[in-house]
Amino acid sequence: MNVVLLGAPGAGKGTQASMLADKYNLLHISTGDIFRANIKGGTKIGKLAKSYIDKGQLVPDEVTCDIVKDRLAQKDTSCGYMLDGFPRNLFQAKELDKFASIDYCLNIDVPLGLLMDRICGRRVCTCGESYHVSTLGGATTCLKCGKELYQRADDNPETVGARLKTYTQQTAPLIDYYKAQGKLISVDGNGSPKEVFARICEALKAPANRI
Ligand code: AMP
Repeated sequence: MNVVLLGAPGAGKGTQASMLADKYNLLHISTGDIFRANIKGGTKIGKLAKSYIDKGQLVPDEVTCDIVKDRLAQKDTSCGYMLDGFPRNLFQAKELDKFASIDYCLNIDVPLGLLMDRICGRRVCTCGESYHVSTLGGATTCLKCGKELYQRADDNPETVGARLKTYTQQTAPLIDYYKAQGKLISVDGNGSPKEVFARICEALKAPANRI
């Protein structure tokens, strides 16, 4: 099963992707994570990506599509994968259709008005866990692995505003793109990660939920 995970920044794509990857034995491929690893490693791609990520803009399509195409060409993808954060515009979606076969597009639907608080209160761990400050009760370390939590550099109000605008203008139209292909499964993303996960698993069981 090859799945595209769609949703605004802060909709919970990363959290749901890692839970789904575990349950369905899928590879979790996040373009955002790939860029952040490149930034940390000081690579040429990392330097280029940072200049866009800091402004809440999309990294150029050619670079992003090449990265995903190369990643999907690796053998370990044969068990199926979950694309988190790709495609993010129509061009990327059309490119993806040239080198991959996507079964479903899972859209996590959260009202845009909730996202600023969700993202700016987000604290993440290098192990992939993610929390909201309101549920941490002052804790600063990961409840799963004990490492120090941190705030992503682009999780600040100014950049989040730009990211939400980019989402509305460029990524949201992909909902209709996958709907027209009969591959869209849309799930209410309002609620705890566990509640949303249960909804997604239910929707994946029932093909009739595809719209
Ligand atoms: P994310 O971790 O998915 O929120 O991505 C963080 C940032 O990485 C985004 O705001 C973009 O600047 C960049 N990025 C991630 N995925 C893509 C993509 N498919 N196309 C272009 N830029 C991307």
